[in-house]
Amino acid sequence: MSEFADVPIIDGHFHFRDAAGLDDLGVVMEAAGFDAINTACLSSIGGASTADNALGILTKLTYPGRMYAFGGLRHDMPGATKETLDLPGQVRAMMAAGFDGIKMLEGKPTLRKRLGIPLDDPVYDDYYALLETEQIPVVYHVADPAYFWDPDACTEAAKKRGWCYTDGTYPSKAQLHQEVDNFLGRFPKLRLIFAHFYFHAYSVDAARKFMDAWENVSFDLTPGSPLYPQFSQAPEAWRKFFIEYQDRIVFGTDLSAPGWHRDGAQAAEFVGDIRRFLETTEPYEAFHGELRGLGLDRPVLEKIYAGNFRRIVGAKPKEINRPAARTMCERLLEDVRQGEHAEKIVPQLEQTIALIDA
Ligand SMILES: [Zn+2]
Repeated sequence: MSEFADVPIIDGHFHFRDAAGLDDLGVVMEAAGFDAINTACLSSIGGASTADNALGILTKLTYPGRMYAFGGLRHDMPGATKETLDLPGQVRAMMAAGFDGIKMLEGKPTLRKRLGIPLDDPVYDDYYALLETEQIPVVYHVADPAYFWDPDACTEAAKKRGWCYTDGTYPSKAQLHQEVDNFLGRFPKLRLIFAHFYFHAYSVDAARKFMDAWENVSFDLTPGSPLYPQFSQAPEAWRKFFIEYQDRIVFGTDLSAPGWHRDGAQAAEFVGDIRRFLETTEPYEAFHGELRGLGLDRPVLEKIYAGNFRRIVGAKPKEINRPAARTMCERLLEDVRQGEHAEKIVPQLEQTIALIDA
């Protein structure tokens, strides 16, 4: 049992992917001791994920006061081109419905390649301008672990998921990070939380350089890369970093429901492995490596576990505005009814609309 078990903790980066996982969500919440969870909706992927935003609404209505939701942009609206997607309009509609922020996966090499839109493309300018003016928080996935670009190092597991970027058709990691610097140069006050530590856990210097260049950005602690083994290469230097940037590091797991941590004990163990890294210094095995943790003090942990998320996003999850949420779900329903994923998506949208009306 952690000596910091009483410290409030919010999972700032979770994925709720199917209405069938509603009970699992509650199981994870209780088993891991989360005061709240932020579901990062992956509507930007399109296809079967198009309904993710509706699922965000579903979780908020099912677990009132315990769920934050970051909505995803839609890039595949029937009849729309990248110029007519009205991204600012999409943001306004999501925020009116009760979303707490925006989740972007547009910087993941697979989606970045498929959409063909550089992250600094002028198509995003009005959108970034709105986010900056309104200080709307974004959980932004940019790049991936470096070994995904390395033909000798990319693993079978990554290959199976289509995550080996060695054929020359994907933007490089450096290119993606350059695109971020470019748009931040135009919109420096954007309130961005970069997922997976911006894939900068390989170098304290790189992480520090980026943090110092853009004072409003934060990193989240979702594993999803060799994050903890990489930190463990230089625990003293990283401990200093975590203390220095204690206001800009956000806890998150990247767990999903329904998912492989369906079982509460597994979810608790996974979360325990992350917490142990932050709270203690004795070596232990986890995340496919031997870890050496940081042993952070209580005030720093309080910020990382919940304080920073609450300051950046909001002290409490926003409430759903039922008429606005209904409008959004009806629009989704109309768009997907004839599509190839209708069989999977339509019942979930109908379930969400029924709960909105209840
Ligand atoms: Zn994620």
